[in-house]
Amino acid sequence: MSNSGTIEWDYAPAPERIRPDISDEYGLFIDGAFVEPESGESFKTVNPATGQTIARVASAGAADVDKAVKAAKAAGGKWSRLKPTERAKFLFRIARRLQECARELAVLETMDGGKPICESRDVDLPLAAQHFFYHAGWADKLQWAFPGCTPRPRGVCGQIIPWNFPLLMAAWKIAPALACGNTVVLKPAETTPLTALHLARVFQEVDLPPGVVNILTGAGETGAAIVDHPGVKKIAFTGSTDVGRGIMHALASRDVPLTLELGGKSPNIVFADAAIDQAVEGVVSGIWFNQGHVCCAGSRLFVEESIVEPFVAALRERMGRLRVGDPLDKNTDVGAINSREQLNRIEALVACGQEEGAILHEINDDPLPKRGNWHRPCFFTGVEPSHVIAREEIFGPVLSVMTFRTPQEALRRANSTPYGLAAGVWTDKGSKVFDIAGALEAGVVWCNTYNKFDAASPFGGCKASGFGREGGRHGLRPYLNLRSSGA
Ligand code: NAP
Ligand code: MG
Repeated sequence: MSNSGTIEWDYAPAPERIRPDISDEYGLFIDGAFVEPESGESFKTVNPATGQTIARVASAGAADVDKAVKAAKAAGGKWSRLKPTERAKFLFRIARRLQECARELAVLETMDGGKPICESRDVDLPLAAQHFFYHAGWADKLQWAFPGCTPRPRGVCGQIIPWNFPLLMAAWKIAPALACGNTVVLKPAETTPLTALHLARVFQEVDLPPGVVNILTGAGETGAAIVDHPGVKKIAFTGSTDVGRGIMHALASRDVPLTLELGGKSPNIVFADAAIDQAVEGVVSGIWFNQGHVCCAGSRLFVEESIVEPFVAALRERMGRLRVGDPLDKNTDVGAINSREQLNRIEALVACGQEEGAILHEINDDPLPKRGNWHRPCFFTGVEPSHVIAREEIFGPVLSVMTFRTPQEALRRANSTPYGLAAGVWTDKGSKVFDIAGALEAGVVWCNTYNKFDAASPFGGCKASGFGREGGRHGLRPYLNLRSSGA
């Protein structure tokens, strides 16, 4: 009981008890089977919350990439000629199987990547299943999606994904490719390979024809070998802007369509007339969801000067109630940082912010677990636009708070970044929403909300955040050759 006579409740631990069926070792998934890598090499994948090795995973070399591309090409003929309604049935079966084993996959995602179980369970898994359901619906309607055209699959698609939404990114890429009649060679990130490999098990369970999807684990060189393989007819990449640029160079002399979903430094603009509590929640979910490991994280907050003091106070109070710790505990809000390397990068940027004179607010002083990679959610005030923390992507739970006086200033400062992935606008005035949202240089603009995703809604960036869209009708386009019917 506190001095004021109110009872202060705390949560009892609520650890997730389901344990997925994890193997000690995983091969490469090529032509419908798990096989030993030709390279003979493997690496370990680690639980970032404990530092413990979860499993050893094969590392694919150039010969393995060649084998996978050949398997995908061989499978392509039959798969692309299958009646679209039959292709759709496979996608429906994958979606339903994902729902059936959602709990195990959510636990596996959390163990391998460090994100809180409430997020893998309530966001990643439902959305991954949704992407297969949604695209199943498109498989037999492609000619209506693009009237006047005869849509044809491109062939073997190389897909390379990052570690922040491992299963969701795999679903996000594989589902449209298959719906359009393509076959796939996919590489998950080195630190989070397990859910993609368990997705391969799902493919086996639903009897997806061998070779239609091949999963190659490995490091950056495996990704580069996929990009360089002449049998690959389309590349979809999600990851950092630097690697994306390298891929663009590598493909410059080849006729291989490319979509790039890259980094961001997304602005969240809060006007004085916004519903403040709602805006605080949106800012919290925008930057502290998934430890800030979100490409579209609202990492730059612009608050109208007249409300900055109460807003920052409300933000501090809300931040203080976030629970940091065991990602497998259902009460945890902020889990483990995905890798030591990423933690080092976040710590270096936070130190840089302090050296440049910004003020760090970090008030959650629950003890952090002794092992694993942790960073408390925090934010900076007193940030100048020239500060490194206001310009560079941190990809961690670190927010920069800045102010503005007029809508024009807010817009100018929000757009003053090389990136253009996402943005948020918070205001009570509909007209302001339209004015600001229309002038923001971002692929996605959320109004009075943040970080909302749906398979039907295209997602992607502009400027240094990449090009091309995933999801919705727009997301089908890169996976199709669209010849005009009269041609
Ligand atoms: P990353 O280093 O670019 O890695 C992304 C993927 O590319 C990984 O599978 C990686 O393998 C692979 N890769 C590395 N070097 C390669 C090369 N030379 N050729 C081909 N593939 C290569 O990015 P990350 O650190 O994993 O992810 C964080 C970044 O992704 C952030 O910048 C974030 O903003 C961005 N991201 C963007 C979106 C979006 O939708 N726009 C979504 C999520 C993340 P390894 O894992 O083995 O290095
Ligand atoms: Mg891992």
